Amino acid sequence: MALEFAERIRRIPVYPAADGYALDDDVAMLASNETPFRPLPQVLDAARRALESVNRYPDPGNGELRRALSARHGVPANRIAIGNGSCDVLLAGAEALLEPGAEIVYAWPSFSMYPHLAAASGATAVTVPLDADDRHDLEAMAGAVTVATRMLVVCNPNNPTSTAVPAADVARLLERVPPAVAVVLDEAYCEFNVADDPDATVDLLADHPNLVLLRTFSKVYGLAGLRIGYGLCGSEAFRTAVDQVRQPFFANVAAQAAAREALRHQDEVARRVEQTVAARLELEAGLRELGLRPAQSQANFVWFALPGEAGERAIVDALGERKVLVRAGGSLGRERHLRVTCGTSEENRRFLDALRESL
Ligand code: PMP
Repeated sequence: MALEFAERIRRIPVYPAADGYALDDDVAMLASNETPFRPLPQVLDAARRALESVNRYPDPGNGELRRALSARHGVPANRIAIGNGSCDVLLAGAEALLEPGAEIVYAWPSFSMYPHLAAASGATAVTVPLDADDRHDLEAMAGAVTVATRMLVVCNPNNPTSTAVPAADVARLLERVPPAVAVVLDEAYCEFNVADDPDATVDLLADHPNLVLLRTFSKVYGLAGLRIGYGLCGSEAFRTAVDQVRQPFFANVAAQAAAREALRHQDEVARRVEQTVAARLELEAGLRELGLRPAQSQANFVWFALPGEAGERAIVDALGERKVLVRAGGSLGRERHLRVTCGTSEENRRFLDALRESL
Protein backbone atom coordinates (compact mmCIF):
# COMPACT_ATOMS: atom_id res chain seq x y z
CA MET A 1 0.00 0.00 0.00
CA ALA A 2 1.28 3.48 -0.88
CA LEU A 3 2.11 5.99 1.84
CA GLU A 4 -0.61 8.47 2.66
CA PHE A 5 0.77 12.00 2.80
CA ALA A 6 -0.76 15.19 4.12
CA GLU A 7 -2.94 16.99 1.61
CA ARG A 8 -0.46 19.86 1.34
CA ILE A 9 2.13 17.55 -0.24
CA ARG A 10 0.01 17.64 -3.40
CA ARG A 11 -0.06 21.45 -3.32
CA ILE A 12 3.59 22.29 -2.62
CA PRO A 13 5.44 23.02 -5.88
CA VAL A 14 8.81 21.38 -6.46
CA TYR A 15 11.63 23.96 -6.18
CA PRO A 16 13.06 24.51 -9.67
CA ALA A 17 16.67 23.64 -8.80
CA ALA A 18 19.40 24.41 -11.34
CA ASP A 19 21.20 21.64 -13.20
CA GLY A 20 24.93 21.24 -13.13
CA TYR A 21 25.85 19.97 -9.68
CA ALA A 22 27.47 16.87 -11.16
CA LEU A 23 29.31 18.67 -13.98
CA ASP A 24 33.06 19.13 -14.22
CA ASP A 25 34.87 22.32 -13.16
CA ASP A 26 35.02 23.69 -16.66
CA VAL A 27 31.37 24.73 -16.73
CA ALA A 28 30.48 28.42 -16.30
CA MET A 29 27.94 28.17 -13.46
CA LEU A 30 25.69 31.15 -14.15
CA ALA A 31 22.41 29.60 -13.06
CA SER A 32 22.09 30.13 -9.30
CA ASN A 33 23.16 33.71 -8.57
CA GLU A 34 26.12 32.64 -6.46
CA THR A 35 29.31 34.69 -6.36
CA PRO A 36 32.24 33.35 -8.41
CA PHE A 37 34.66 34.43 -5.64
CA ARG A 38 36.03 31.85 -3.20
CA PRO A 39 35.69 32.51 0.53
CA LEU A 40 38.55 34.50 2.12
CA PRO A 41 41.27 32.34 3.77
CA GLN A 42 40.39 33.86 7.16
CA VAL A 43 36.76 32.79 6.69
CA LEU A 44 37.78 29.24 5.78
CA ASP A 45 40.11 29.14 8.82
CA ALA A 46 37.27 30.21 11.10
CA ALA A 47 35.04 27.45 9.69
CA ARG A 48 37.83 24.85 10.07
CA ARG A 49 38.49 25.87 13.66
CA ALA A 50 34.79 25.50 14.41
CA LEU A 51 34.87 21.96 13.02
CA GLU A 52 37.14 20.93 15.89
CA SER A 53 34.21 21.18 18.29
CA VAL A 54 31.54 19.45 16.24
CA ASN A 55 31.13 16.84 18.95
CA ARG A 56 29.12 19.62 20.66
CA TYR A 57 25.83 21.09 19.45
CA PRO A 58 26.00 24.65 18.14
CA ASP A 59 24.87 27.54 20.33
CA PRO A 60 21.09 27.40 19.78
CA GLY A 61 20.83 31.12 20.57
CA ASN A 62 23.47 31.98 17.93
CA GLY A 63 24.67 34.51 20.50
CA GLU A 64 28.01 35.56 19.05
CA LEU A 65 26.71 35.87 15.51
CA ARG A 66 23.69 37.87 16.63
CA ARG A 67 25.94 40.20 18.62
CA ALA A 68 28.21 40.68 15.59
CA LEU A 69 25.20 41.42 13.37
CA SER A 70 23.81 43.77 15.99
CA ALA A 71 27.07 45.72 15.99
CA ARG A 72 27.10 45.75 12.17
CA HIS A 73 23.51 46.94 11.68
CA GLY A 74 22.68 48.78 14.89
CA VAL A 75 19.68 46.50 15.48
CA PRO A 76 19.30 44.98 18.98
CA ALA A 77 20.37 41.31 19.08
CA ASN A 78 16.96 40.23 20.40
CA ARG A 79 15.47 41.42 17.09
CA ILE A 80 17.82 39.38 14.89
CA ALA A 81 16.67 35.95 13.69
CA ILE A 82 19.31 33.57 12.36
CA GLY A 83 18.49 30.85 9.84
CA ASN A 84 19.85 27.92 7.88
CA GLY A 85 19.99 30.32 4.93
CA SER A 86 17.60 33.26 4.76
CA CYS A 87 15.09 30.84 3.21
CA ASP A 88 14.85 29.17 6.58
CA VAL A 89 13.74 32.44 8.20
CA LEU A 90 11.29 33.01 5.34
CA LEU A 91 9.76 29.53 5.67
CA ALA A 92 9.60 29.73 9.45
CA GLY A 93 8.04 33.19 9.24
CA ALA A 94 5.35 31.86 6.92
CA GLU A 95 4.75 28.88 9.18
CA ALA A 96 4.33 31.19 12.15
CA LEU A 97 2.08 33.70 10.34
CA LEU A 98 -0.01 31.74 7.83
CA GLU A 99 -2.87 29.24 8.08
CA PRO A 100 -5.99 28.40 6.07
CA GLY A 101 -8.09 31.54 5.61
CA ALA A 102 -5.07 33.85 5.80
CA GLU A 103 -3.61 35.59 2.74
CA ILE A 104 -0.06 36.26 1.60
CA VAL A 105 0.64 38.97 -0.99
CA TYR A 106 3.69 38.83 -3.27
CA ALA A 107 4.67 39.96 -6.75
CA TRP A 108 5.01 37.63 -9.73
CA PRO A 109 7.37 36.65 -11.25
CA SER A 110 9.46 36.67 -8.10
CA PHE A 111 11.49 34.24 -5.99
CA SER A 112 10.32 30.68 -6.62
CA MET A 113 10.03 29.91 -2.87
CA TYR A 114 7.09 32.28 -2.39
CA PRO A 115 4.43 30.00 -3.96
CA HIS A 116 5.62 27.35 -1.50
CA LEU A 117 4.60 29.49 1.50
CA ALA A 118 0.88 29.50 0.74
CA ALA A 119 0.86 25.90 -0.47
CA ALA A 120 2.53 24.61 2.69
CA SER A 121 0.30 26.52 5.09
CA GLY A 122 -3.04 26.35 3.30
CA ALA A 123 -3.16 30.16 3.12
CA THR A 124 -4.26 31.93 -0.07
CA ALA A 125 -1.61 33.38 -2.39
CA VAL A 126 -2.48 36.81 -3.79
CA THR A 127 -0.04 37.55 -6.61
CA VAL A 128 0.45 41.04 -8.02
CA PRO A 129 1.98 41.34 -11.52
CA LEU A 130 5.22 43.30 -11.93
CA ASP A 131 4.93 46.62 -13.78
CA ALA A 132 5.95 47.21 -17.42
CA ASP A 133 9.60 47.61 -16.35
CA ASP A 134 9.56 44.29 -14.47
CA ARG A 135 9.55 46.12 -11.11
CA HIS A 136 7.34 45.51 -8.09
CA ASP A 137 4.13 47.54 -8.32
CA LEU A 138 4.04 48.59 -4.67
CA GLU A 139 0.86 50.64 -5.09
CA ALA A 140 -0.99 47.61 -6.42
CA MET A 141 0.50 45.43 -3.70
CA ALA A 142 -0.71 47.79 -0.96
CA GLY A 143 -4.11 47.74 -2.68
CA ALA A 144 -4.16 43.93 -2.57
CA VAL A 145 -4.01 43.87 1.25
CA THR A 146 -7.29 42.78 2.88
CA VAL A 147 -8.35 42.03 6.46
CA ALA A 148 -7.16 38.47 5.85
CA THR A 149 -3.59 39.46 4.88
CA ARG A 150 -0.93 38.28 7.31
CA MET A 151 2.20 38.58 5.21
CA LEU A 152 3.34 40.76 2.31
CA VAL A 153 6.66 39.92 0.64
CA VAL A 154 8.73 42.33 -1.44
CA CYS A 155 11.82 40.90 -3.14
CA ASN A 156 14.21 43.81 -3.60
CA PRO A 157 16.16 43.54 -5.89
CA ASN A 158 13.75 41.07 -7.41
CA ASN A 159 14.73 37.55 -8.37
CA PRO A 160 14.42 36.69 -11.29
CA THR A 161 13.95 40.11 -12.95
CA SER A 162 16.94 41.84 -11.25
CA THR A 163 15.09 45.17 -10.84
CA ALA A 164 14.86 47.20 -7.63
CA VAL A 165 12.40 49.67 -6.15
CA PRO A 166 13.73 52.66 -4.14
CA ALA A 167 13.81 52.40 -0.34
CA ALA A 168 11.69 55.58 -0.26
CA ASP A 169 8.90 53.69 -2.08
CA VAL A 170 9.17 50.85 0.42
CA ALA A 171 8.79 53.45 3.20
CA ARG A 172 5.57 54.70 1.54
CA LEU A 173 4.28 51.13 1.24
CA LEU A 174 4.85 50.64 4.98
CA GLU A 175 2.71 53.70 5.71
CA ARG A 176 -0.17 52.06 3.83
CA VAL A 177 0.03 48.52 5.21
CA PRO A 178 -1.75 47.87 8.54
CA PRO A 179 0.67 47.18 11.40
CA ALA A 180 -0.79 43.69 11.93
CA VAL A 181 0.52 42.60 8.52
CA ALA A 182 4.14 41.39 8.45
CA VAL A 183 6.04 43.08 5.62
CA VAL A 184 8.96 40.85 4.67
CA LEU A 185 11.56 42.58 2.54
CA ASP A 186 13.70 39.89 0.94
CA GLU A 187 17.02 41.65 0.42
CA ALA A 188 19.22 38.71 -0.60
CA TYR A 189 20.82 40.87 -3.32
CA CYS A 190 20.71 44.31 -1.69
CA GLU A 191 24.50 44.74 -1.55
CA PHE A 192 24.64 44.83 -5.36
CA ASN A 193 22.12 47.68 -5.60
CA VAL A 194 24.02 50.85 -6.49
CA ALA A 195 20.87 52.98 -6.77
CA ASP A 196 20.25 52.93 -3.01
CA ASP A 197 22.20 52.62 0.22
CA PRO A 198 21.72 48.91 1.10
CA ASP A 199 21.21 49.94 4.71
CA ALA A 200 18.50 52.55 4.01
CA THR A 201 15.77 50.04 4.88
CA VAL A 202 17.40 49.24 8.24
CA ASP A 203 16.40 52.73 9.41
CA LEU A 204 12.73 51.84 8.74
CA LEU A 205 12.79 49.11 11.42
CA ALA A 206 12.65 51.69 14.22
CA ASP A 207 9.20 52.90 13.11
CA HIS A 208 7.75 49.64 11.81
CA PRO A 209 7.57 46.70 14.23
CA ASN A 210 5.89 44.70 11.42
CA LEU A 211 8.93 44.97 9.10
CA VAL A 212 11.44 42.13 8.58
CA LEU A 213 14.53 42.44 6.39
CA LEU A 214 15.88 39.13 5.12
CA ARG A 215 19.62 39.09 4.46
CA THR A 216 21.92 36.27 3.48
CA PHE A 217 25.53 35.16 3.57
CA SER A 218 24.89 33.13 0.39
CA LYS A 219 25.42 35.88 -2.15
CA VAL A 220 28.00 38.65 -1.68
CA TYR A 221 29.63 36.86 1.28
CA GLY A 222 30.03 33.68 -0.80
CA LEU A 223 28.87 31.17 1.82
CA ALA A 224 25.94 29.61 -0.09
CA GLY A 225 27.19 26.09 0.60
CA LEU A 226 27.28 26.60 4.37
CA ARG A 227 23.63 27.79 4.58
CA ILE A 228 23.41 30.83 6.82
CA GLY A 229 21.19 33.91 6.67
CA TYR A 230 19.29 36.23 8.97
CA GLY A 231 16.34 38.49 9.48
CA LEU A 232 16.52 41.98 10.97
CA CYS A 233 13.18 42.39 12.68
CA GLY A 234 11.16 45.43 13.71
CA SER A 235 9.97 43.55 16.77
CA GLU A 236 11.20 40.74 19.00
CA ALA A 237 7.87 38.95 18.48
CA PHE A 238 8.79 37.85 14.95
CA ARG A 239 12.10 36.38 16.06
CA THR A 240 10.52 34.54 18.97
CA ALA A 241 7.84 33.09 16.67
CA VAL A 242 10.28 31.84 14.02
CA ASP A 243 12.43 30.23 16.71
CA GLN A 244 9.32 28.56 18.12
CA VAL A 245 8.40 26.73 14.91
CA ARG A 246 11.88 25.36 14.16
CA GLN A 247 14.18 22.73 15.58
CA PRO A 248 16.57 24.32 18.12
CA PHE A 249 19.82 23.79 16.19
CA PHE A 250 19.09 25.28 12.80
CA ALA A 251 22.48 26.90 12.14
CA ASN A 252 25.62 24.77 12.27
CA VAL A 253 28.85 25.78 14.04
CA ALA A 254 30.96 26.15 10.88
CA ALA A 255 28.36 28.42 9.28
CA GLN A 256 28.05 30.59 12.38
CA ALA A 257 31.83 30.94 12.70
CA ALA A 258 32.37 31.64 8.99
CA ALA A 259 29.59 34.24 8.95
CA ARG A 260 31.08 36.05 11.96
CA GLU A 261 34.47 36.18 10.30
CA ALA A 262 33.04 37.22 6.91
CA LEU A 263 31.30 40.17 8.55
CA ARG A 264 34.68 41.52 9.64
CA HIS A 265 35.77 41.96 6.02
CA GLN A 266 33.53 44.69 4.69
CA ASP A 267 36.39 45.86 2.45
CA GLU A 268 36.11 42.51 0.66
CA VAL A 269 32.34 43.00 0.34
CA ALA A 270 32.95 46.40 -1.28
CA ARG A 271 35.54 44.90 -3.64
CA ARG A 272 33.16 42.12 -4.69
CA VAL A 273 30.32 44.54 -5.26
CA GLU A 274 32.61 46.64 -7.47
CA GLN A 275 33.68 43.60 -9.51
CA THR A 276 30.13 42.32 -9.79
CA VAL A 277 28.84 45.67 -10.99
CA ALA A 278 31.65 45.75 -13.59
CA ALA A 279 30.63 42.23 -14.69
CA ARG A 280 27.00 43.33 -14.87
CA LEU A 281 27.92 46.26 -17.14
CA GLU A 282 29.98 43.90 -19.30
CA LEU A 283 27.04 41.50 -19.67
CA GLU A 284 24.54 44.29 -20.31
CA ALA A 285 26.73 45.86 -22.98
CA GLY A 286 27.27 42.48 -24.65
CA LEU A 287 23.53 41.75 -24.64
CA ARG A 288 22.72 45.14 -26.16
CA GLU A 289 25.26 44.46 -28.90
CA LEU A 290 23.21 41.37 -29.72
CA GLY A 291 20.11 43.55 -29.97
CA LEU A 292 18.69 42.36 -26.64
CA ARG A 293 17.26 44.57 -23.90
CA PRO A 294 18.20 43.45 -20.39
CA ALA A 295 16.05 44.69 -17.48
CA GLN A 296 17.66 47.38 -15.34
CA SER A 297 19.63 45.16 -12.97
CA GLN A 298 20.58 46.06 -9.42
CA ALA A 299 21.51 42.47 -8.59
CA ASN A 300 24.31 40.03 -9.42
CA PHE A 301 22.41 38.70 -12.44
CA VAL A 302 20.72 39.93 -15.59
CA TRP A 303 17.30 39.14 -17.05
CA PHE A 304 16.19 39.53 -20.64
CA ALA A 305 13.60 38.44 -23.18
CA LEU A 306 14.72 36.21 -26.02
CA PRO A 307 14.21 37.62 -29.51
CA GLY A 308 11.70 36.57 -32.15
CA GLU A 309 11.43 32.87 -32.76
CA ALA A 310 14.21 31.72 -30.41
CA GLY A 311 12.93 28.83 -28.28
CA GLU A 312 13.93 29.10 -24.61
CA ARG A 313 14.72 25.42 -24.11
CA ALA A 314 16.72 25.19 -27.33
CA ILE A 315 18.84 28.19 -26.33
CA VAL A 316 19.48 26.87 -22.81
CA ASP A 317 20.49 23.50 -24.27
CA ALA A 318 22.74 25.14 -26.87
CA LEU A 319 24.41 27.18 -24.10
CA GLY A 320 24.81 24.00 -22.06
CA GLU A 321 26.59 22.30 -24.96
CA ARG A 322 29.02 25.23 -24.87
CA LYS A 323 29.54 24.65 -21.14
CA VAL A 324 27.50 27.62 -19.94
CA LEU A 325 24.73 27.03 -17.43
CA VAL A 326 21.95 29.65 -17.14
CA ARG A 327 18.30 29.61 -16.03
CA ALA A 328 15.33 29.46 -18.36
CA GLY A 329 12.64 32.02 -17.51
CA GLY A 330 9.91 29.41 -17.94
CA SER A 331 10.93 27.67 -14.69
CA LEU A 332 10.99 31.05 -12.91
CA GLY A 333 7.58 32.38 -13.90
CA ARG A 334 8.03 33.86 -17.37
CA GLU A 335 8.60 31.98 -20.62
CA ARG A 336 11.05 33.04 -23.33
CA HIS A 337 13.38 34.80 -20.91
CA LEU A 338 16.81 33.99 -19.51
CA ARG A 339 18.35 34.78 -16.14
CA VAL A 340 22.14 34.86 -16.16
CA THR A 341 24.36 35.28 -13.08
CA CYS A 342 27.32 37.68 -13.31
CA GLY A 343 30.44 35.50 -13.45
CA THR A 344 34.12 36.15 -13.93
CA SER A 345 35.16 38.08 -17.05
CA GLU A 346 36.09 34.83 -18.74
CA GLU A 347 32.71 33.27 -17.91
CA ASN A 348 30.80 36.34 -19.06
CA ARG A 349 32.65 36.36 -22.38
CA ARG A 350 32.06 32.64 -22.79
CA PHE A 351 28.35 33.16 -22.17
CA LEU A 352 28.10 36.08 -24.64
CA ASP A 353 30.00 34.16 -27.34
CA ALA A 354 27.87 31.06 -26.75
CA LEU A 355 24.67 33.11 -26.87
CA ARG A 356 25.70 34.77 -30.13
CA GLU A 357 26.28 31.35 -31.65
CA SER A 358 23.09 29.90 -30.20
CA LEU A 359 20.84 32.68 -31.46
N1 PMP B 1 15.80 35.21 -1.41
C1 PMP B 1 16.04 35.33 -2.72
C2 PMP B 1 15.35 36.40 -3.47
C3 PMP B 1 16.91 34.46 -3.36
O1 PMP B 1 17.12 34.56 -4.67
C4 PMP B 1 17.55 33.46 -2.61
C5 PMP B 1 18.53 32.49 -3.21
N2 PMP B 1 18.30 32.03 -4.45
C6 PMP B 1 17.24 33.36 -1.27
C7 PMP B 1 16.38 34.26 -0.69
C8 PMP B 1 17.77 32.26 -0.43
O2 PMP B 1 18.96 32.50 0.09
P1 PMP B 1 19.60 31.58 1.21
O3 PMP B 1 20.71 30.88 0.53
O4 PMP B 1 20.05 32.57 2.22
O5 PMP B 1 18.57 30.66 1.76
